[in-house]
Amino acid sequence: MTSKEIREAYLSFFKSKSHQIVPSAPVVVKNDPTLMFTNAGMNQFKEYFLGEAQAKYTRVADTQRCLRVSGKHNDLEEVGIDTYHHTLFEMLGNWSFGDYFKKEAISWAWELLTDVYQLDKDRLYVTIFEGDEKEGLGRDDEAFDFWKALIPEDRILLGNKKDNFWEMGETGPCGPCSEIHFDMRNDAERQQERGQDLVNADHPQVIEIWNLVFMQFNRLKNGSLEPLPARHIDTGMGFERLVRAIQGKTSNYDTDVFQPIIQYIAERSAIQYGADEKTDIAMRVLSDHIRAVSFAIADGQLPSNNKAGYVIRRILRRAVRYAYTFLGFKAPFLNELVPLLAKQFEGVFDELIQQQGFVQKVVLEEEVSFLRTLTTGIQRFENYAVDHTAVDGDFAFELFDTFGFPIDLTDLLAREKGLHVDMDGFQKALQQQKDRSRAATTIDTGDWVSVQEDEESMFVGYDTLEATTQVLKYRKV
Ligand code: ATP
Ligand code: MG
Ligand code: MG
Ligand code: MG
Repeated sequence: MTSKEIREAYLSFFKSKSHQIVPSAPVVVKNDPTLMFTNAGMNQFKEYFLGEAQAKYTRVADTQRCLRVSGKHNDLEEVGIDTYHHTLFEMLGNWSFGDYFKKEAISWAWELLTDVYQLDKDRLYVTIFEGDEKEGLGRDDEAFDFWKALIPEDRILLGNKKDNFWEMGETGPCGPCSEIHFDMRNDAERQQERGQDLVNADHPQVIEIWNLVFMQFNRLKNGSLEPLPARHIDTGMGFERLVRAIQGKTSNYDTDVFQPIIQYIAERSAIQYGADEKTDIAMRVLSDHIRAVSFAIADGQLPSNNKAGYVIRRILRRAVRYAYTFLGFKAPFLNELVPLLAKQFEGVFDELIQQQGFVQKVVLEEEVSFLRTLTTGIQRFENYAVDHTAVDGDFAFELFDTFGFPIDLTDLLAREKGLHVDMDGFQKALQQQKDRSRAATTIDTGDWVSVQEDEESMFVGYDTLEATTQVLKYRKV
């Protein structure tokens, strides 16, 4: 099956079970202070679960474009290194708003995976919530019993609160979940080690594909749980992972979702995909990041110097750095991928093809401006390396502060020349800058505004990146 057929089969399967197929929400969230980007299919239905609005249909399904690059779900640093976390991905989902519950959710998931998609039953594992004494919750026996009717007991694994109990926030709807995992190891590996032991253990070939959430409790302000009057189903399946499983690949990037883009990059860089781990990672990063950047722009979030715009700028720059450093693209290149992507998503998410020219132009402008800074910084580094045997902390900080080099890029450049970077010295210089900016803000409060209190990173001045935690920073306005 092609990825297109796989997506269509999902939607038509749930249509045949009386679900209304709805469009994806934009990936950019503008009306929710707790969320920058859509990170799950359920986001657009949040008010139904909170009881703030009445759902028009009680059964709904869709494919939602999601971005996991900030906040609670931030997979950015994994992307390209592993082969199954993306910045932007499609989450296939089906929902019941006070309609069907565990029995149907479980048996339909199984029917779809094993009947429609014909996935090998011997490679599937499921997890259920093991219970939690402190919460006064027992094992999810209902889910266990429904699964037991479908698969052998040794394929049903118990999971803890972290993996198998879902909560929307501090308060509100929550409940146990049941995840489906797929074991793609080859036969020899499967004989050596039990697949059970590898579920949820970051094994690259034993990966989670689908999460079925059973919302049946409401978390009160005092921390206690009360049963919800109407119980809901919320499921999310990673489309690219599903395609990989069905197409029998060992990497999401080997499927027809990513291959056309990767092949284009390979051709233009004259480097073969698969030839070398470093260039492979770079190609994965590019083919992934252009999706996040393009859809963010199409959905109304331009790259900029703060908040959501900065997150997008940072993703774009990460891609440019990989393209420049490992694939030899010294001139703008990423923007060339936009038309390919737009064509690929035609009929699925038409937002991109409708604004293709605009998106391409924005990406190009960003590339031009960042490449200028990057080139100057790399030259500065090359000059420094000529007469130094190590990179001292102050110089690493200068690259960071003036040229936007995250410390990992400096480290990478240094390692290629066999130079050691003084990490402690860098951290010290960083801390000193923080102290300075904190002091400055106390003197000058009238002119400074808080731009972001972020748990990850933000823009603090001309082309500088900062990866720090929980520091409130300021920008002159
Ligand atoms: P993982 O444990 O692999 O990080 P998760 O438990 O964080 O996944 P959920 O929040 O349960 O993921 O989301 C539902 C589904 O979305 C997952 O089962 C997975 O198939 C898919 N998914 C989650 N994160 C990503 C990602 N970064 N890229 C691609 N697919 C993802
Ligand atoms: Mg995750
Ligand atoms: Mg998980
Ligand atoms: Mg999960």
